[in-house]
Amino acid sequence: MVNKIGRRSFIKKTGVIGSVISFSSSSLFSSSSDEKRIIIVGAGLAGLSCAYELDQAGYNVILIEAKSLPGGRVSTYRDQFSDNLYSEMGAEYVDSTDLFVHDYCRRFNLKILPARQYDGVYVRGNELSMERIRSGENSLPYNGTEDGMLFGQEVQYIQKWIDLVKHKGINSTEVQALDNVSVESILKKGGAPKDIIELYTYANATESTTTPSKISALAVILSNIKTSGFSENTVEGRIFGGNDQLPKTLSKKIENRIKYNSPLLRLDHNSDGVIATISENGKPIKIKAAKCVLAIPTTILKNIEIYPKLSNDKIKCINEQAYGNAMKIAIQFKKRFWDNGDSIGQRVFTDTVLRRIYHFSVDQPGPRGILLSFTSGKDAMKLGKLGDEERDKIAKNTCLKIWKDSSKYWERSVSKYWNDDKWIKASYTFSAVGQKNFREILSRNEDPLYFAGEHTAFQRASMNGAIESGLRTTKEIVKAMSFT
Ligand SMILES: Cc1cc2nc3c(=O)[nH]c(=O)nc-3n(C[C@H](O)[C@H](O)[C@H](O)COP(=O)(O)OP(=O)(O)OC[C@H]3O[C@@H](n4cnc5c(N)ncnc54)[C@H](O)[C@@H]3O)c2cc1C
Repeated sequence: MVNKIGRRSFIKKTGVIGSVISFSSSSLFSSSSDEKRIIIVGAGLAGLSCAYELDQAGYNVILIEAKSLPGGRVSTYRDQFSDNLYSEMGAEYVDSTDLFVHDYCRRFNLKILPARQYDGVYVRGNELSMERIRSGENSLPYNGTEDGMLFGQEVQYIQKWIDLVKHKGINSTEVQALDNVSVESILKKGGAPKDIIELYTYANATESTTTPSKISALAVILSNIKTSGFSENTVEGRIFGGNDQLPKTLSKKIENRIKYNSPLLRLDHNSDGVIATISENGKPIKIKAAKCVLAIPTTILKNIEIYPKLSNDKIKCINEQAYGNAMKIAIQFKKRFWDNGDSIGQRVFTDTVLRRIYHFSVDQPGPRGILLSFTSGKDAMKLGKLGDEERDKIAKNTCLKIWKDSSKYWERSVSKYWNDDKWIKASYTFSAVGQKNFREILSRNEDPLYFAGEHTAFQRASMNGAIESGLRTTKEIVKAMSFT
């Protein structure tokens, strides 16, 4: 339970009598409607969707963002490349099940175009073609794999647990106990050779940017029941012209309501409302509001001072929520040599330190083009420790192994290691061993504080999940405010 204190002791303890709200700038942030004001912290898709929807519904919102631009982990780099090329350094793909993203894109006239699928595989030094893997002509150089497919090789070794859910039900003790063990551990129990665990590490590298020894077996089993899992046949889309258009469109709609360069430092709250202390031009200022939505990753939230403290189970989840590691490297080339007849392909699955490497600029005019790599887990940690020059050198050497012409056309590379980003410090959440109840606890409001962000969503680790959480929080606030 949240430790509630009365209004008087609240003001006394926080020591802000008389100067509760010292708005430095625009009259939009005037104190005339403090009672109804909602502060939203974090202009990623979670905070933006919540602020936009509440604004549309007539609420007085202020969106506070630490950086000078919206989007958070949706980040399209543009200035770094020639010829108006751009690249997604954060979130990229929109699946057909991402209904909230599709809905916003329809509303704001943004087109989603399908990306190209995997056509090359480079593992253990072998160049393979996806077409030949599909037809069974090429076998994967891993023990225990089935011919005809790349992804989902682990399923045959965990089938008995998938069947267990079908027979006993999700809520049975036996099934729920799977949260106490890792997917690596059930793969071993199910007779998977070491090779299958290694391959799974790469196949699962964008779903969960971590190692199989940390991922909850329950989460993997359930995801295999609910969906057929990611495969080489999954059609993925991307917002034509760059994903940043979605956060930019949302932020434009509420531009006068956003304070950039204003990180939240501290929150004081009681049953009457909240006082947020933010930093503006290096000085702390206080804003009073009826409610506050925290739409920032737990890696940042855990260092925000909140008085009175949140409930114990919430604090535990904030401190322990698992995230992986991710780095993207975008490389500009003079020519799109990967489309040449003798090339391994344009979207390549690898076990190199770059992991996935693919032609990003498929829907942008040439002749220049961008190859983008998505590195995660231990490889991202390894590259994360290096400087730009060393990352560039490794990327160059790795590309050379995959495409012999690549060094001829190389122009420049740019990288983004998300775990080093001061306001994110993570890639995205995954279902770690023992964390099956975390989402429920992290998303639970402790009025007047509300919690959004991909880590609070059913469809975690995605743009869709971020919006899902923004919409959920909007509903919770509308409901709570209708009683006041
Ligand atoms: C490399 C990578 C690849 C990805 N690929 C995909 C993909 O293909 N498809 C997909 O759907 N999703 C993908 N994702 C996940 C997706 O980006 C996230 O799930 C989603 O964007 C998270 O949105 P959010 O609003 O919850 O958090 P964020 O986007 O992290 O927003 C949080 C915001 O809070 C701000 N902030 C932090 N601290 C403070 C503070 N103290 N005060 C004020 N503001 C603060 C931050 O600056 C940030 O703007 C990817 C993510 C990464 C990193």
